[in-house]
Amino acid sequence: MAVKDKSAGSLVVVGTPIGNLEDMSPRAVRMLREADVIAAEDTRRARKLLTHFAIAGPKVVSMFEGNEAARVAKLCEAMAAGARVAVISDAGMPGISDPGERLVRAAIDGGMAVEVIPGPVAAMVALVGSGIATQPMVFLGFLPRQRGERMEILGQRRTDPATLILYEAPDRVAATVADLAEVLGSERPAAVCRELTKIHEEYLRDTLDGLRETLSVRPPRGECVIVVAGAEPGAHDNIDLEAELRSLLDAGLGPRDAAARLVARTGKPRRQLYQLALSLRTARDPQDPD
Ligand code: SAM
Repeated sequence: MAVKDKSAGSLVVVGTPIGNLEDMSPRAVRMLREADVIAAEDTRRARKLLTHFAIAGPKVVSMFEGNEAARVAKLCEAMAAGARVAVISDAGMPGISDPGERLVRAAIDGGMAVEVIPGPVAAMVALVGSGIATQPMVFLGFLPRQRGERMEILGQRRTDPATLILYEAPDRVAATVADLAEVLGSERPAAVCRELTKIHEEYLRDTLDGLRETLSVRPPRGECVIVVAGAEPGAHDNIDLEAELRSLLDAGLGPRDAAARLVARTGKPRRQLYQLALSLRTARDPQDPD
């Protein structure tokens, strides 16, 4: 890798457009031009972007999930030798449901300067355009594919007053909205935000049930972000503690862990929840020690 200045090794995380090339900032272009090496999720896509902005100098190397660990080590060596490394992903911000986070951590651990060049993040564009409360909010990224794990993660958010933001592959959006309606309640306001910054940008704003119905007859095309309003204040007052604890115990958690899960969601004292979980477990499995 070409090295310009032995003392100036650094990492530049460069945000790129999520569908509209006009969103590429002049600073992002300059930073990429000035890099010694650009780590890109997909080098072919990166070359298209670089060609569009007449960025020809830097060496382009791939960094994707499969080679990330080895690549991070190599890039850190290059930075330690003074290279200015830039990282981009296929779209938006590296590190946001895309490779980048590991490299940032390694660069920080190696004492390198880390700079972030802001660009669009689909989650934030969707959040603002959805019209749903922007604070507090929780970014869940992609849910696990395994349904049990998905439902558990969503279950933990059932009484959370924070707006939820999720990424989802186009062919799974309808099923995920159905899962959200099932776990969070059908009346929650939500938005499916499609093809953001592109020609066919669209916001479907409705309740989760309304969205479920719409999407069942018209599955969404293109990339989508799902935004869901948080639980109404006081919703946790109605939480059925026994039912919640039973389902956590049924999922294999011990009384201590089951109680711990509910502390944040209910605001109830840990001891009270533990005693209740213990009595439910004892009633179910009289032989089991905690
Ligand atoms: N790093 C990107 C960012 O900063 O937003 C996210 C990359 S992630 C692999 C891809 C997911 O982001 C898509 O499945 C979709 O949920 C969301 N996404 C990306 N671009 C989008 C767009 N233009 N419109 C709607 N959703 C988008």
